Amino acid sequence: MKKLKVTIIGYGGMGSFHAKLIQANPEVEVHGIFDISESRQQAGEADGYSAYASLEEALNDACADTILIATPNDVHKEIAVQALEAGKHVICEKPVTLTSEELSEIMHTAEEQGRVFMVHQNRRWDSDFQMVKDLYEKRKIGEIFHIESRVQGANGIPGDWRHLKAHGGGMLLDWGVHLFDQLLYMVDSPLVKVAADLSYVLGDEVDDGFISYLTFENGVTALVEVGTTNYIKLPRWYIKGTKGSAVIEDWDLKGKIVKQSGLEFVVAPKPIKAGQGLTKTMAPPSEESIIKEKFEKVTTQMDPFYTNFAKVVRGESEPIVKNEEVYQLMKIIESIFKAAETGQVVDVREHSYSK
Ligand code: NAD
Repeated sequence: MKKLKVTIIGYGGMGSFHAKLIQANPEVEVHGIFDISESRQQAGEADGYSAYASLEEALNDACADTILIATPNDVHKEIAVQALEAGKHVICEKPVTLTSEELSEIMHTAEEQGRVFMVHQNRRWDSDFQMVKDLYEKRKIGEIFHIESRVQGANGIPGDWRHLKAHGGGMLLDWGVHLFDQLLYMVDSPLVKVAADLSYVLGDEVDDGFISYLTFENGVTALVEVGTTNYIKLPRWYIKGTKGSAVIEDWDLKGKIVKQSGLEFVVAPKPIKAGQGLTKTMAPPSEESIIKEKFEKVTTQMDPFYTNFAKVVRGESEPIVKNEEVYQLMKIIESIFKAAETGQVVDVREHSYSK
């Protein structure tokens, strides 16, 4: 089968990572690269790719089928629209754009041109998330009613452009789009409302983290937290179900499940001394009333994105990341900014995309 030829625009950290993903997939190949930085052009050439002298030259090359955008966030829209108008299919890094309006313009252009536009929401295939999704869908700890999803580091905001508003910096646009996308993808009910606080501990003009609280129509609640000044991390996932709790510590996927044994009403917990008082409510459950299980690791296959993308281009498959889903995601991100700015809970029902 003829491989799709992909030209990478923006050969920085993620652009060069895409080159490896493309090389590992039999459906696609790297056709060339373009970066506005001379040193990154040279890095691309050193990796064996030919570098175009300009974006226009890359877009005018009739041999390339697809443009992959891995530049800072603020120029995603203009490059996507130009590439679609030049007749190319487009894959775009997250966050797709800075606003839902910009995404709407891209979707419109893609439709007009009859070209495929897909956003690389790759963390839908992270193993830790797949473990949580499996737990949710198979009801292994009963009905899940609360989810805490956190990523925390102690290295501040990395790089240069991520500190700047004009480039679409900040952690809500950087990590928020992954974590909210995972929840919207997993929870089988519309999101109803959001509350949020952004943090500015580092004194940047953009947020260096945030805490947000989501409520879905089926009653599921979620706390989503991102921090860049956390010298002690909380677990990546903490999940509560009607019959148990589960935790995943970190990217190494170490976790555990503790669930009811069926004897919880027979073997009562013993009161314990807690601080200056006595408590039975907060005592650990009796050993007989619980079952402790290892949280079985899920090893996800290679990111299925490119395989799906090639099939979508050939008209053989539906996209695994739908633009309507990403549009809803961008509306939710806008609502989170609004909730943080106003200190109000924001009703997001009108943005809910029904699956
Ligand atoms: P980076 O700074 O390492 O690389 C960006 C590159 O784009 C730089 O080499 C820069 O010179 C180049 N560039 C800037 N403006 C350009 C333009 N107009 N035309 C061509 N090249 C241009 O940044 P990064 O970490 O690679 O992030 C790039 C994109 O990838 C961002 O949108 C980011 O959010 C996304 N990203 C996604 C993931 C993921 O897991 N999906 C991970 C990291 C980054």
